[in-house]
Amino acid sequence: MSDITSLTLTQTIAALDEKKFSEEELNNAYLERIKKLDPKLNAFLEINEKSNKIPAAIKSLISTRGLKTSSASKIIENYNPPFNATVIGRLLDKGVSVIGKTNQDEFAMGSSGENSAFGSTKNPWDLIKVPGGSSSGSVAAVAADLAVFALGTDTGGSIRQPASLCGVVGFKPSYGRVSRYGAISMASSLDQIGPIGKSVEDVRLILEWIQGPDGFDSNCQPSSHLRGATRVAADAHLGGGLNGVKVGVPKEYFAVPAGRQGEGLDSGVEKVVKDAIKEMEELGAEIVEISLPNTQYAVAVYYIIMASEVSSNLARFDGIRFGGDRSLFGAEPKRRIMLGTFALSTGYYDDYYNKAAKVRTLIKKDFEKAFEKCDVIVGPVSPTVAWKLGEKISDPLTMYLSDVYTIPASLAGIPGLSVPAGFSEGMPVGVQILGKYMDEETILNVGEVLEKALDIKEKPKL
Ligand code: GLN
Repeated sequence: MSDITSLTLTQTIAALDEKKFSEEELNNAYLERIKKLDPKLNAFLEINEKSNKIPAAIKSLISTRGLKTSSASKIIENYNPPFNATVIGRLLDKGVSVIGKTNQDEFAMGSSGENSAFGSTKNPWDLIKVPGGSSSGSVAAVAADLAVFALGTDTGGSIRQPASLCGVVGFKPSYGRVSRYGAISMASSLDQIGPIGKSVEDVRLILEWIQGPDGFDSNCQPSSHLRGATRVAADAHLGGGLNGVKVGVPKEYFAVPAGRQGEGLDSGVEKVVKDAIKEMEELGAEIVEISLPNTQYAVAVYYIIMASEVSSNLARFDGIRFGGDRSLFGAEPKRRIMLGTFALSTGYYDDYYNKAAKVRTLIKKDFEKAFEKCDVIVGPVSPTVAWKLGEKISDPLTMYLSDVYTIPASLAGIPGLSVPAGFSEGMPVGVQILGKYMDEETILNVGEVLEKALDIKEKPKL
């Protein structure tokens, strides 16, 4: 069967149950495709020829026993953990195997995949463009059918943004839904592991597999705090439509800030997102305008809090406890360690870290207030489509600004879904659906209905 690799996870499980092909044939099909296409894409840092169950691609900062977990950094280039991350153990229990460890921005710092110490991943839709980041290889692998699904991590957008740029489904769970145990920490108050898949249904199933309490992550919520029945199909909840669903559209997300031309939302992306909102209205949703007034501070707040936590977390790579010589850190981790150390230092702590922590609370309150008027919030994932490799690499600030739409949800700890919604300039565009804290169920339901209605079938030509 030549189209084995184009099946979704749920289709793959059904086909295996019906014995249409064996697990061996499944893995051979994927390994063959990886060998053919990965030299062009550079999505993988290590391939596991022994994969013998449902093959998943795993971001290189998630610990897998016996497989390289380098976080795409030279400083721990050959680290093979003696244990599995909690999420990996849970996937193995469900009949999944790791087909490879994926490329990423070093220590998950970046929005383009170009900060990897092992070369950039390419966008499967156009090989001269970035796939987005930091879960660059995980997303490219799913988009190019090099794995049935993937896991990534999202601290400020690293699952949702590349998913949008590569035309796949990406999901960041609420902070505390999925255990972070075994994921190499970037910014501990923001990091979440989440699924990347070929359909919303797939992502729902993967979330179901990996979520839930874990004694190794004290931030992971007890199951009584999780809404159940996430696996129930959207049709059963919403009858295939969106009747009775209130969709909030933040007015700040579409306004170009005065005097900041070029930083605003790209018009092609805006059109795709607005068309998706129109589609939701036609499906029966009520569209309500909402306001998230502190959005404009989100990027600044994130870059202070994230860098502060980075400077603390990466202190363990001191060449004594972990890692080799500190000169092996790439430019971006070095930059963030220095910025974070500065923001936390005596005399500056109150002006930077403390102030940022207060504004973070205001951003969280913005969402709580907005969710009094709506069930989900819809907007862009990324202000632009994928850009050319090299285009933004020498300008970190422009790169940081590409996360304006994903960062607020990370700061507030709420869940966010990126669903493919269309194309602009021939490149995929995703729409972002945000939900209330721990209400992944509603955004997955809404996402599934929208996905079915939009019915996008195009695949990258490779
Ligand atoms: N692009 C953002 C950054 O560079 C987000 C990264 C992430 O979510 N890991 O920090």
